[in-house]
Amino acid sequence: MSILDWLFPKFCTGCGFLGEYLCPRCVALLKTKSELCFYCEKFSPSGLTHPSCIKKGPIVGNLSLFQYTGLMTKIIHSHKYQLNQLLIDRFLSEAVQPQILRIKSFLPQTNPLLVPVPLDKERTKQRGFNQSLIICKYLSGLLGLQTQDIVLKIRKTCSQAGIKNRKSRKINIKGSFVMFDNKPIIGKDVVVVDDLVTTGATITEMARVLKKAGANRIYSFALARP
Ligand SMILES: [Zn+2]
Ligand SMILES: [Zn+2]
Repeated sequence: MSILDWLFPKFCTGCGFLGEYLCPRCVALLKTKSELCFYCEKFSPSGLTHPSCIKKGPIVGNLSLFQYTGLMTKIIHSHKYQLNQLLIDRFLSEAVQPQILRIKSFLPQTNPLLVPVPLDKERTKQRGFNQSLIICKYLSGLLGLQTQDIVLKIRKTCSQAGIKNRKSRKINIKGSFVMFDNKPIIGKDVVVVDDLVTTGATITEMARVLKKAGANRIYSFALARP
């Protein structure tokens, strides 16, 4: 145990066990989510949008690794509200890294770009980091893909988690993103990366902006979805 561990002991977010922010037993209890169509949320190989669902929007493929229940809810909440970057790092190496084969088989073979869902300025300042960018950079290192943090959130929106209704979420997020550099994405496939996807309103609005700026196909990747 290092001196830092004595001064700032780590406790597991799931069970409170002393030693790490996330212990192996709790990681093993996380419930994975199967490969589902982004729109109807029914099974689809590699998470590809069903041909019958493609008319519903611009997302062609979707992977949300874990179910947003139990411990996963705690993990997402803690990095949203307690600024715990070390917990995200631990989660990525312990829970996401073992899913590498799933992630690889989901991604298109076209060298896609990873684009994080941005936070508005105020929230980035409050939190000190954008968790989606951290996830992107981790995946970049793991998969050798480029991260392009090229979308800005120009308008503060209410927390999507606080809005239950799908239509209100769409209105809340509409027009809140702009691209500040569209060159890197022209003609490229893009994977929009976020920590949590619920109704998909945020990803759909990101996709609209990216498509307008010249992106080819848009995929959605998240750590969790209910
Ligand atoms: Zn634990
Ligand atoms: Zn479908």
